[in-house]
Amino acid sequence: MTSYDSVVIGAGVFGAWTAYRLRLAGKSVALLDAYGAGNSRASSGGESRIIRMSYGADEIYTRWSARSLAAWKAFLDEVKAPGLFYPTGVLWTSSEGDARAADNRAALVRNGVTFENLTQLEVEKRFPQLRFSRPITAVFEPESGVLLARRCVQAVVREAVVRGVDFIHAIGGVASGDRKISSVSIGPHARIGAGELIYACGPWLPKMFPALLGDRIRATRQEVFFFGTAASDRRFAPPAMPAWLDYSDPRRSYAIPDLESRGFKLAFDRHGPEVDPDTQERIVQADALAEAREFLRERFPGLAGAPIVETRVCQYENTETGDFLIDRHPDFENVWLVGGGSGHGFKHGPAVGEYVERLLAGTINSEPRFALTG
Ligand SMILES: Cc1cc2nc3c(=O)[nH]c(=O)nc-3n(C[C@H](O)[C@H](O)[C@H](O)COP(=O)(O)OP(=O)(O)OC[C@H]3O[C@@H](n4cnc5c(N)ncnc54)[C@H](O)[C@@H]3O)c2cc1C
Repeated sequence: MTSYDSVVIGAGVFGAWTAYRLRLAGKSVALLDAYGAGNSRASSGGESRIIRMSYGADEIYTRWSARSLAAWKAFLDEVKAPGLFYPTGVLWTSSEGDARAADNRAALVRNGVTFENLTQLEVEKRFPQLRFSRPITAVFEPESGVLLARRCVQAVVREAVVRGVDFIHAIGGVASGDRKISSVSIGPHARIGAGELIYACGPWLPKMFPALLGDRIRATRQEVFFFGTAASDRRFAPPAMPAWLDYSDPRRSYAIPDLESRGFKLAFDRHGPEVDPDTQERIVQADALAEAREFLRERFPGLAGAPIVETRVCQYENTETGDFLIDRHPDFENVWLVGGGSGHGFKHGPAVGEYVERLLAGTINSEPRFALTG
């Protein structure tokens, strides 16, 4: 039986960066994925993900995001794929007087993040394609932007393999047995030895560990729309249009400009119904599409009546607080759970990989917010 120091199950953004970092730390590593790295069912399998530093009072994520942006850029330069990050800038709008806005600005200042405070008039002047139905205040992060998610994950896995990680396209079994496991099943007939076992299975975690995680992580259906802009209309592509998150409206919308001519992406950051990531149908619902169209008419009149050019159905893997879950499995000495991206995890892949590598090496203390009991 082949044995590895570390076996990572799940090659989404968390597992890919974890495997890569463990390998850089000198370990022998196997990385498994049941459906392939950055596959269509995975939360990391989408076209694009926003990377922003604005996190209100949740400053730990501002820090992690800043570290991750530097790491993404360095990594993508190293593997000669800098185009997988688009520095579109990120606009964060919230209601005037929203306490989160003040907390956010203070956290950005403390962490040395470059940003501009914009009044509503300034936003409307700079981004005339946007409309607001109530008074807003805004932060603009000119150096933040968008990662081409699926291709970023695949780039990390490719580089991990170049550096000696064994990528295995197979389903990994659930840890069982004594307090210290020594092997795990791969597929129906084989096993591999594992010094430590890391489950980075995203929305599959509650399915794999129902007793432990069934109530702690919920996979929810999320629908995403790409609208086609008019021929030659560049108002909804960079540099005219940034990525945008809107906290001023209970619909919690976010938009990604037209990248690589795939269309203007619009979605709502609210949790849909609970789903099974293996079996959910990936076809958007008519009522969600109607809501998206109505939103566009109101807030992006230049896109009213724009045709759908693509849709995606994905799932979040939400913890109750929205914090990641990165902790040791309570029944095993050498089994770790890494997940709970909760709709905002993608950007943090590099920081998660670094954190897990150091946690397993015993060179850092664990962060209470990521604990199973936290
Ligand atoms: C619509 C949408 C928009 C989002 N927008 C943003 C954004 O703008 N910015 C941001 O930072 N984040 C965003 N997120 C969140 C982010 O995409 C996720 O938090 C992140 O991708 C989770 O990564 P993961 O590696 O934990 O899970 P996944 O990417 O789901 O990876 C888990 C992997 O494990 C594999 N697997 C599962 N079980 C097994 C098994 N038994 N054996 C082998 N393999 C297995 C699966 O095949 C899968 O590839 C968004 C998410 C969605 C759905």
